[in-house]
Amino acid sequence: MKNLDNAHFETIAIHAGQSPDPSTGAIMTPIYQTSTYVQKSPGVHQGYEYSRSQNPTRTALEENLAAMEGAKYGLCFASGCAAMNATVGTLQAGDHVLVCDDVYGGTYRLFSKVLSKFSIEFSFVDLTKTENLEKNWKKNTKLLWLETPTNPLLKILDIQKLSELAHARSGLVLVDNTFCSPYLQQPLKLGADLVLHSTTKYLGGHSDVVGGFVGTSNESMAQAIRFNQNSMGGVPAPMDCFLTLRGTKTLAVRMDRHCKNAQVIAEFLEGHSQVENVIYPGLKNHPQFEIASRQMKDFGGMISFVVKGGLAKATSVLERVQIFSLA
Ligand code: PLP
Repeated sequence: MKNLDNAHFETIAIHAGQSPDPSTGAIMTPIYQTSTYVQKSPGVHQGYEYSRSQNPTRTALEENLAAMEGAKYGLCFASGCAAMNATVGTLQAGDHVLVCDDVYGGTYRLFSKVLSKFSIEFSFVDLTKTENLEKNWKKNTKLLWLETPTNPLLKILDIQKLSELAHARSGLVLVDNTFCSPYLQQPLKLGADLVLHSTTKYLGGHSDVVGGFVGTSNESMAQAIRFNQNSMGGVPAPMDCFLTLRGTKTLAVRMDRHCKNAQVIAEFLEGHSQVENVIYPGLKNHPQFEIASRQMKDFGGMISFVVKGGLAKATSVLERVQIFSLA
């Protein structure tokens, strides 16, 4: 393993977790398309037994993403939702999770329609007001679930402040960092215990692979999530890990361009006569502009805006977005 202790983010993104393949010297981690591994004797192997449990292409991706997030441990999954499932699956029936409102719709669906059936309790609260954490924290609250910026309303949550409040109440803090990527925001450095990604988005970067990731430096949580990764089985295929690894190499340059483009588009939309409201953390009128400036390196590539004229007008704008047109 290379020593990347003093390396810049861009170098970590390209090199962390990847060493030339010992059998051939291949510089890029091969796609280890195998389900199982030969053992010299029962239980005597080279760290790999069965590809649900471990796979070398996955190991390379896990180490790569963990290094970018400053996490000791990384766990990859078949999707962001599989990563959430394995993480919340470490809780017990009767535990409560305090969740920011405006989380991604699939997160809300998983929590409210699936995991709540197993007697895990979820509350969805506007955590842009930190006093709402204090008001809604319960005796059985074990986990604070943040997403910042939120999908779709791009609310920004103060990771450092909310982590301090949760830790004072003995809770763990998870941040879904999908909309930032580790290039723009590193939640563990701001005090969170767990960071989660849909790698399907910026990390994969080419719209050709679905995946998820959880990073942590908390050893017991890493062990529990790894246990669920193997037990629940929502693991990514080696080809998917390879594609995501290829994506992370260009993360920094892509994010710089996303941010630059988004700022220009947001300012253009702000001045448009048919637009009622633009929500972008890089606009000075965003309600949490100050927090975004402090905890994010730049403001990201996601913009929300409200078109004058209601749903019919908004639908017609979306139908005319050129990249989505079928004809
Ligand atoms: N978290 C956020 C913020 C997302 O936007 C998404 C998907 O859009 C997910 C998690 C779920 O990830 P996946 O689609 O990879 O299951």
